[in-house]
Amino acid sequence: MDIGPWEVFGILVAIIVVLTAWRFAPSGTRSSTGGQRAVQPQVVAVPAPPVICAACQTANTAGNRFCSGCGASLVPEEKTCPSCATVNPPGQAFCGQCGTRLTPAAA
Ligand SMILES: [Zn+2]
Ligand SMILES: [Zn+2]
Repeated sequence: MDIGPWEVFGILVAIIVVLTAWRFAPSGTRSSTGGQRAVQPQVVAVPAPPVICAACQTANTAGNRFCSGCGASLVPEEKTCPSCATVNPPGQAFCGQCGTRLTPAAA
């Protein structure tokens, strides 16, 4: 049973390593919790642009299908041709099949 100077040196190194790890452990925990706090606001702060009603200029919550101020539809609807019953995509002024006007003529 010989305990030489190298064994004592090894034990001292082991003690220093353990103490160093113990000192840095709490600071690492604090930084991780701080990171979580910094992430939380990003989940809450997701601005949804309001939808402005074309009829009454009311700012509606994004996702609304109808205006909360006047009840007008906020979603462009497909237009069925009164002549040939073809369903045309929103925004189309004339039927793509027969050319019938889909929007009421301006007075
Ligand atoms: Zn409106
Ligand atoms: Zn048509």
